Amino acid sequence: MKFEDLNLHPTLLKAVKDQNYINPTAIQAQAIPLILKDNDVLGTAQTGTGKTAAFALPILHHLINEKTNNKTKIRALVVTPTRELAIQIGENFTDYAKYNNIKNTVIFGGVKQGTQTNALSNGVDVLVATPGRLLDLMGQGFISLNDIGYFVLDEADRMLDMGFINDIKKLLEKLPKNRQSLFFSATMPNSILTLSNTILRNPKKIAVHQVSTTAETIQQSIYYTNKSDKKDLLFHILKNNDINQILVFSRTKHGADRIVRNLQKNNIEAAAIHGDKSQNQRQRALQSFKDYNIRVLVATDIAARGIDIDKLSYVLNYDIPNEPETYVHRIGRCGRAGEKGVSISICEPEENVYAKDIEKLIKQKIAAVQHHPFPQTEKPMNAQQKKESEKEKNRKKQEFFANRNKNRNSGKANPRNNRR
Ligand code: AMP
Repeated sequence: MKFEDLNLHPTLLKAVKDQNYINPTAIQAQAIPLILKDNDVLGTAQTGTGKTAAFALPILHHLINEKTNNKTKIRALVVTPTRELAIQIGENFTDYAKYNNIKNTVIFGGVKQGTQTNALSNGVDVLVATPGRLLDLMGQGFISLNDIGYFVLDEADRMLDMGFINDIKKLLEKLPKNRQSLFFSATMPNSILTLSNTILRNPKKIAVHQVSTTAETIQQSIYYTNKSDKKDLLFHILKNNDINQILVFSRTKHGADRIVRNLQKNNIEAAAIHGDKSQNQRQRALQSFKDYNIRVLVATDIAARGIDIDKLSYVLNYDIPNEPETYVHRIGRCGRAGEKGVSISICEPEENVYAKDIEKLIKQKIAAVQHHPFPQTEKPMNAQQKKESEKEKNRKKQEFFANRNKNRNSGKANPRNNRR
C-alpha cells in the first residue's frame, strides 16, 4: 500500500513525502482508513510503530475539511503520559500540517506555565497535553474542551502505571459526548479494556506487534560480567568507533548520574535525562544528543519513554530490567521504522534470572559475547544453594523469635521492663 491510496488531503501527502516516508507502516495502513470513516479506534501499538502519524494524519485531514469560523478553538486533544512524548507528538503535528494553517501547542508540567498559556490565548486547533497540567490549566480557565471533536488517549497502559487514572476520569467528564475517540496502548490488560469502554463507542479494534515481539532488525547481544566490572566494560564497548551515538539505560537516577560522571572523567561526552532533571535540562541533553554534540545519553526508563531519535543505531542496557517488557521498550528505541539497530546488554550475576525472563518473553536466546576481558567470576547461586540459603535465613528468623519470646516470658532483656 502507498500513502496515495489512503485518500488523505494532498497537502498532507506532500508533507509526508517531505518526511521521506514511502509506505504507510502497518498501524497506519490499518488505522488511517478507519479514522477517516469517523470510527472510534482501539489500537494495540507501541511507540516506534508509526502510531503518531496513524492518528495525526487522519485528524488533520478532518480538521482541514471542517468549516470553522475565524476564531480558533481547540478541536483536537491528544493526552499522553510524558513531556518528551508530548513534545514529539507536537513536533509531528507541526511537520504534517506544514502546508496548512492548523496550529498546535504542547502543554506539560514541570515548567512555568506562561509560554503555554500565551500560546493557548493565541488560539490553537490541536492541543497535546500531559494530564496534570491539562487539568490545572482547565481549572484556571485557560482551556475549554467544549469544542473537542477528536480525542486521543495515547500510551494508556503507561498512563495507568503512572497513576493518572483519576485525572483521566476527571477529563472524560469534561469532554463533549459527541466526539471521535482514539485509544492506543502498548498492552491491553483488563484495566485498560474497562477504561476503553468508558471512552469509545463501538470501537474498531486494531493491533500491531505485541510488546513481546522485538523488531527483527535489532541485533541483540549480552555481556555477562561482575557488577564491579560493568564500568570498565562500558569503556571497552565504547572503544568501538562505529558507535557514533548510544543511548544507555540505567534503572535508577543515581545510577544514570554515576555513569555520566564516570564517562566524563574519561573524556567521553555524556549527559543524563531522568525525573530529577528540569524540563530544560532534559530537552537540552536530548537536543545535544540529536545534534551529535554528545556521544552518550544515559536515561532512566520513564524519561526515555517515547524518545524518538532518528537513525539511532545503538542502545545499551547497563542493567537488566526486572520487567521483561521494559527490555522490549528499551531496545525499541533503536532500529525504528525499519532502520538497523544494535542492542547491547551488560548483565551481572544477580540479573541472570531477569535475562532468562526476557529470553522467555521474546522467545529467543540473546547471543552472549564469549570473548571479552571482563569474565564473570561472581557465580550466581544455583537452585540448591538458593534453597539452602533460604533455609538458613528461616532458621535464623525462627531462632530470633524463639529467643525473643523466651526473654519476654522471663521478663529479661527488654530494658523497658526494667524501668518499672
Ligand atoms: P512513532 O511510533 O509515531 O513514534 O514513530 C516512530 C518513527 O517512525 C518516527 O521517527 C516517525 O517519523 C517514523 N515514521 C512514522 N511513519 C513512518 C513511515 N510511514 N515511514 C517511515 N518512517 C515513519
